[in-house]
Amino acid sequence: MGLTPANTSVLPKAGFIIGGEKTTDSSIGTYDHLYPATGKLTQAIPLGGKAEMDAAVAAARKALPGWRELPANEKRKLMLGFAALIREHFDEIKSIVMTENGSPDMMAEAFPEWIADLFEYNAGWADKIGGDMITTWPVPAFDYTIDEPYGVVGIIVPWNGPAISFGQMIAPAMAAGNTCIIKPSEFAPYSCIRLGELALEAGIPEGVINVVPGGGEGGSALCSHPGVDKLHFTGGGHTAQKVLSAAQPNMTPVGLELGGKSARLVFADSDRQKAVQAALMGCIPMSGQACIAGTRVLVEDSIYDSFVADVQNAVGYVKVGDPADKDTAMGPLIHQQQMERVLGFAERASANGAEVLTGGQRMGGDLAEGYFVGPTLVANVDNSHEVVRDEVFGPVVSFMRFKTEEEAIQLANDTPYGLAAYIESDDLTRVHRVAQALDAGSILVNNAYGLPAAAPFGGNKKSGVGRVGGIHGIREFIRTKNVYISMA
Ligand code: NAD
Repeated sequence: MGLTPANTSVLPKAGFIIGGEKTTDSSIGTYDHLYPATGKLTQAIPLGGKAEMDAAVAAARKALPGWRELPANEKRKLMLGFAALIREHFDEIKSIVMTENGSPDMMAEAFPEWIADLFEYNAGWADKIGGDMITTWPVPAFDYTIDEPYGVVGIIVPWNGPAISFGQMIAPAMAAGNTCIIKPSEFAPYSCIRLGELALEAGIPEGVINVVPGGGEGGSALCSHPGVDKLHFTGGGHTAQKVLSAAQPNMTPVGLELGGKSARLVFADSDRQKAVQAALMGCIPMSGQACIAGTRVLVEDSIYDSFVADVQNAVGYVKVGDPADKDTAMGPLIHQQQMERVLGFAERASANGAEVLTGGQRMGGDLAEGYFVGPTLVANVDNSHEVVRDEVFGPVVSFMRFKTEEEAIQLANDTPYGLAAYIESDDLTRVHRVAQALDAGSILVNNAYGLPAAAPFGGNKKSGVGRVGGIHGIREFIRTKNVYISMA
């Protein structure tokens, strides 16, 4: 039978959108993008280098005065029009998302609505960004603040959910009056390119959104560019350090959305069926290539054995396979190197005494040409094992026991990361108490999954700096000026 081939007809021609113009010539070469489910070429992606970033920064700077000064209600109308156009292109965007990184249909179909919602939500802020009046009594003076855009914002996004990152960062940055350059990864560039085209079609002025796909060379050029007023980076911690070094000479402020190693605390008083499904959520969405994946499952000792057995049984109901099939829950990993990295974690865990209960192998048969690894459950580990400490970014979930609530919190917080933490419990008092004690930016309770546009999202510790979403996301892209007037 074989897998459904990549739907290459739906992909935009890869290239750059700079100042409203689409170009396809790269100054530094191309990258062969392969459909992760079959390993077959989709297109050669022109890579953005210094020349393309220089042009994009110049275009964003040229567009800045017009966009910044555009009345807020006009900004709002344009952003709402863009959101409507995204919805009109639902099928196309869904197919592009599936083809660029192998997201299964059931995952990809959430994306167009999610991106449109992010633009609609943030459009509503365009005319609500103001300032504060500051009390100066008893001094005869008047003091107030003005919230201003930074100016030109550079946005770097990873391959696991570039279309969502486009909405999460560009929508608030635009609503706040900034102009943007987004650099998607060469591993999944298509959705950002298409969204950039649709933005122009929706009437967003040329140069407000510039799209320059590429890898490290383009990213580095953007981060060190003196014409960039603010950077926002989503990706891994090692790259974040390079971003910070590149930004340092110009002291460009940087927002960081980084990785995680999020714990899921399963208490004996939780709903068993919900908690079992929740435990598998560490593997299923994006095949575990999700920053917020709950990859360390901590289970109360009294239910540990039966709970782990139930999760193991439930794995049999998770369909791993053709992203085009409606009932596929897990698609492939992004590329060969990522697959090898994930398999390496499973192999080393096994060599170090862990028990790999299921998975940990490349899948064969119809899936042999793609980069498929099924749910991989690992037991008999402690917090010193590499597979428990490091972000795998694949479908690997480890299980550990705890005896008391205090021990669960201690184990959960014993990590360099602090992106999310999950609680499975029907005891509401416990839920609030534990939520306060967990050191993470997002706490999700009872199989909760998702990021509402109005909610803040971001990490503590090595999971990041700053928040996107809600008013916090708007604040990420504005700076405050104070005006102090003497009335003496
Ligand atoms: P990555 O760090 O390798 O790459 C991220 C982006 O940085 C890509 O666009 C890449 O081309 C670019 N880049 C590479 N070298 C660069 C350099 N020297 N200067 C500037 N940019 C450079 O990460 P990845 O493998 O694409 O994505 C996986 C990581 O992203 C994971 O750690 C994951 O947890 C994290 N992530 C975090 C969030 C979040 O919201 N917290 C969301 C998604 C992914």
